Amino acid sequence: MKFGVIGAGQMGGGIAQVAAQSGFTVVVQDVKQEFLDRGRTVIEKSLAKLHEKGRLTDAPDVILGRMEFTTDLNAFADCDLVVEAIVENEGVKADLFRQLGQIVKPDGILASNTSSIPITALASASGRPDKFIGMHFMNPVPLMQLVEVIRGYSTSDETARFVTQTAERMGKTPLACNDFPGFVSNRILMPMLNEAIQCVMEGVAEPEAIDGIMKLGMNHPMGPLTLADFIGLDTCLAIMEVLHKGLGDDKYRPSPLLRKMVQAGLLGRKSGQGFYTY
Ligand code: NAD
Repeated sequence: MKFGVIGAGQMGGGIAQVAAQSGFTVVVQDVKQEFLDRGRTVIEKSLAKLHEKGRLTDAPDVILGRMEFTTDLNAFADCDLVVEAIVENEGVKADLFRQLGQIVKPDGILASNTSSIPITALASASGRPDKFIGMHFMNPVPLMQLVEVIRGYSTSDETARFVTQTAERMGKTPLACNDFPGFVSNRILMPMLNEAIQCVMEGVAEPEAIDGIMKLGMNHPMGPLTLADFIGLDTCLAIMEVLHKGLGDDKYRPSPLLRKMVQAGLLGRKSGQGFYTY
């Protein structure tokens, strides 16, 4: 099986790594060589750590040997499945799928790792809506069990079956849902993170206290502000905008503090500063 991944960032790198660990031949594409180099370095470090803990069946070099890094979209032509993990922007993703629909072989399946953008809209852009699906991995991909499998309006049973089986072959647990804003995971998670940010803005408590209360009181493994920093505040804002617009209810209004932090370039862990300093 030839597995394509678009975007060598946090999610794309992780998806590509796990696909290669599972024995698939993997092509990873990004817009600039430096992004590919950065992605490859992260993968190398993660593989070294997993190898040390005895959690890999193959040596890191063998796994890396199954991966190709390129800036050329044409490298996806003979892929059986291509998973997109680029910036959370509907216009940019739709443009990419318009191109991919022309490049990938006709029976190739296209999937998006989007956190919130309508699968049905991206499926239409691709020109092959029956062979299009949402394959939503969780961060960090090598460690997290879930893949949310999101069927668009026209996704075929065959496509859903293939992607479910592929997720299982990657050692993940796929769970199915339908195409509504934020799907299940972010429809429930993101309003909680947004509310935690609103608590910071209103001075309800300090960030450390908010996170501590949710960890100790609700038994969450990580506080909501730590998690927002980890996900990326730009991604959190983009998801809240989709929920707000898509569901048309002001209860999903993004916190003004979240918006201001993103405007200021405070994106969380990836920029070195969010609610905490990294
Ligand atoms: P990221 O910023 O870490 O990585 C995005 C990568 O895509 C970058 O390397 C960028 O150069 C590349 N890219 C941008 N435009 C491109 C294009 N046109 N062609 C090829 N590459 C392009 O972002 P991320 O956190 O990996 O998120 C990627 C996607 O995964 C988003 O849709 C996001 O909503 C989703 N997601 C994120 C998380 C999370 O916790 N961060 C979890 C699940 C899903």
